[in-house]
Amino acid sequence: MKYVKNLMEEIFSIPSPGGDTSTITERLRKEFEGMGVPVTTTRKGAIMGTITGENDEEHKLISAHVDTLGAVVKEIKSNGRLRLSAIGGYAWTAYEGENLIIKTMKGKEYTGVLLPDKASIHVHSEEVRETLRTEENMEVRIDEDVHTKEDTLKLGIRVGDFVAFDTRTIFTDNGYIKSRYIDDKACVAVLFGVCKYLKDNNIKPENTVHFFLSNFEEMGHGVTAIPEKTVEMLALDIGTVGEGHTSDEHCVTICAKDSRTPYDFGFKKKLVELAEEGGIDYRVDVHYRYGSDASLSILQGVDVNFACIGPGVDATHHYERTHIDAIENNIKLVIQYII
Ligand SMILES: [Zn+2]
Repeated sequence: MKYVKNLMEEIFSIPSPGGDTSTITERLRKEFEGMGVPVTTTRKGAIMGTITGENDEEHKLISAHVDTLGAVVKEIKSNGRLRLSAIGGYAWTAYEGENLIIKTMKGKEYTGVLLPDKASIHVHSEEVRETLRTEENMEVRIDEDVHTKEDTLKLGIRVGDFVAFDTRTIFTDNGYIKSRYIDDKACVAVLFGVCKYLKDNNIKPENTVHFFLSNFEEMGHGVTAIPEKTVEMLALDIGTVGEGHTSDEHCVTICAKDSRTPYDFGFKKKLVELAEEGGIDYRVDVHYRYGSDASLSILQGVDVNFACIGPGVDATHHYERTHIDAIENNIKLVIQYII
């Protein structure tokens, strides 16, 4: 768990908005290689570490996504500030007042913050309270001396540049993890925690396992580059904690259905039985507005059996929170599933 916590801390600090994930992917390629796990790369830039099992004819694929929400520069305004276009599904209020980094094509980085164009109550009075936040009225104030469009262009900032928001990651002494992008970086850490457990204890899994790090989940691409012998795909993705949901920040959620499809009855039942046998604290939940790499792949016609599990996370796609207990329960369930 110490390893998992350290890895989580590190990867939370690497910006990876959908479309700009090569830095985190290269870092994680080294993690696989350091464990002696062979890595393959898809044409779209996703990577997959493979550990050979006793049965090398029927493979299992376990996925977690490295891409996160974020934005690109949509327009450089006449006052030198930036209008953004969102990457992934979130409300602008979730990012109001958040620090961010703008990365230019040449790799130069500038800091800034996301604000409504009418932010100051001293200047705009009640309008600040009452205005609905939209793509049209949110803007980036760059931490540079810019007042005109030309000033911003001189910095090298262009339409299409990526914007990554600060994660504000905090690990509390009593085990809570507060951060943006616990979805799905916590699950990436779970995936590596499982790999490390197998390697450190010299355990050969029952079946060959592909550990797949997808890089366009938030945009709903799914995983289609699945090795031919794969019979089951288990997506690791967050359980949504909140009103009307069973998910809990201390438990692993087994997803019964999301907004795209119910998950397979037999596969779900197997996961529930494994959790009960292993004394793992779990919940079965139905996700309301949600798709996982597993459900998205299935909808694209991939012929494998499919399931989704993940740590319970509060305030998803906002300033998220989970507890280290949920991460541990998740790791235990994946281990039960593959050994
Ligand atoms: Zn996710």
